[in-house]
Amino acid sequence: MKHVPARCESFFQSLIVSCQAPDGDPFGEPDSMARFARTAALGGAAGIRTNGPDDIAAIRQAVSLPIIGIQKRLQADGRILITPDLEDARKLVAAGADIIALDCTARGQRFGAVERVRQIHGQLGVPVMADIATVEEAVTAAAAGADLVASTMRGYTAETESVRNFEPAFIRELVTRLGVPVVAEGRIDRPEQAAEAIRAGAFAVIVGTAITRPGVITSRFVGAIHRERSRSNGRHYVIGIDLGGTNTKSAIVSRDGKLAFEFISATPPGGGRDALLKHLKRVAFHAVEVARGSGCKPTALGVATAGWVDPLTGRVVYATDNLPGWTGTPIADELQAAIGLPVAVENDANALAIAERHFGRGRDVDDFVCITLGTGVGGGCYIAGRLNRGAHFFANALGHIPIQHGGLPCTCGRKGCLEVYANAAALLRYAGQEFATAEDVIRAANSGENIARRALRTYAAHLGTGIVSIVHLLDPSVVVLSGGIAQDNPLLVSELNEQLPELLIAPGQRRLQVEISQLGYYGGVLGAAAIAIEKSP
Ligand SMILES: [Zn+2]
Repeated sequence: MKHVPARCESFFQSLIVSCQAPDGDPFGEPDSMARFARTAALGGAAGIRTNGPDDIAAIRQAVSLPIIGIQKRLQADGRILITPDLEDARKLVAAGADIIALDCTARGQRFGAVERVRQIHGQLGVPVMADIATVEEAVTAAAAGADLVASTMRGYTAETESVRNFEPAFIRELVTRLGVPVVAEGRIDRPEQAAEAIRAGAFAVIVGTAITRPGVITSRFVGAIHRERSRSNGRHYVIGIDLGGTNTKSAIVSRDGKLAFEFISATPPGGGRDALLKHLKRVAFHAVEVARGSGCKPTALGVATAGWVDPLTGRVVYATDNLPGWTGTPIADELQAAIGLPVAVENDANALAIAERHFGRGRDVDDFVCITLGTGVGGGCYIAGRLNRGAHFFANALGHIPIQHGGLPCTCGRKGCLEVYANAAALLRYAGQEFATAEDVIRAANSGENIARRALRTYAAHLGTGIVSIVHLLDPSVVVLSGGIAQDNPLLVSELNEQLPELLIAPGQRRLQVEISQLGYYGGVLGAAAIAIEKSP
């Protein structure tokens, strides 16, 4: 058991309330401090810490609790120091202080703190509490004879300024290293933290601001309300741009995924890197202008593009010949320089998965796969709540999973890829000569036409083969289908639900759900907006 000095026994596992107010505070007078002290006593506090003989004298009149006295003084280095003078300490004791606290940090020691601990003992005969910020300072203070050590200065010295929160681990370390009782003080804002301090072995806990600074407490509530107000009235918007092969869709999107304004423009065909960048900048400028003109405040911009993207740098790592010259383009840097907002860039299929995570089916599940079915086939996979990007950003090439050895040639240069059997052209091929577009086939199939239904069944069989590979690898909860082939195509889901159980291992146990994305035509834009939200300050 550590030695507990006289007048401090009642502090054991109790609360000490620091009653202090800065100059100019409406409570900054002895009478107010006495009222705080009386209130603290009524509330169950075991002691009071306070500044200066006037406040101590007033509090002494008001309560019988032990008082820890300090005297803050401005020093030659331009900063306040706690009780740097023996004469001050003498006045505090004369006014009624039972214990004297002083700054024993490295800086305090430069101002003679170690010697002062001995002088206070020798000349005033009261216990000393050493306010420190590090273990070394605590050890020095205890060796000098300090009766109690308090973590008061942690986070308030040059050496510890990076500490922003109360640290139970620091208390635990002090308790282990010191032979004197440890008092937890500094940045203890909530009752749970006080309990944590006791759990860490603290002899007592001192709380000040969170109890005796009504102005600070008020501003905390006001700040929380302001943050919520600016969130809920949607003053924070992002801009999402989905750069497609034919069209570029863009929108001003609120943080909860509502589209405020949408725009569509034609993507310059085969124009190369310069034309595409110029086009993107024009689209971005326009959206920013509309946003500002209508009182929205865009905080970031996201771009979804075909090709493989390094999301950290916003550069295109690799793009096929569908986007000539796009490989290596530093999209984020170019746009950021042009519009002055943070810019995030992501592969368009990944962006759709991110959109599902933020605004769609992926909100409720941590493992899901998005598959886009259109001119091409792509996707994105969330594993344990994280988008899987792979080691080189080449993950999620779902369209190029081989489903037929030596099969039909694919745009990627290989043969038998899922894409060749599950894109729009494939559906048309399965339907024969009678239909002009894949959408026609989908419409006909869903209204019961036999040829179209058979084509869709064939399509589902091929797509199902690919899905089985993905599901056996990742075991997702949900497969979300999007893109032109999935839109308005409930028959596709019922075909898959019929066929997949026969192809999957343990279909009953895994309860896989196949669903059509609810995000609709602007899913890619929402994905771009989602990455912008993640990038927002
Ligand atoms: Zn391929």
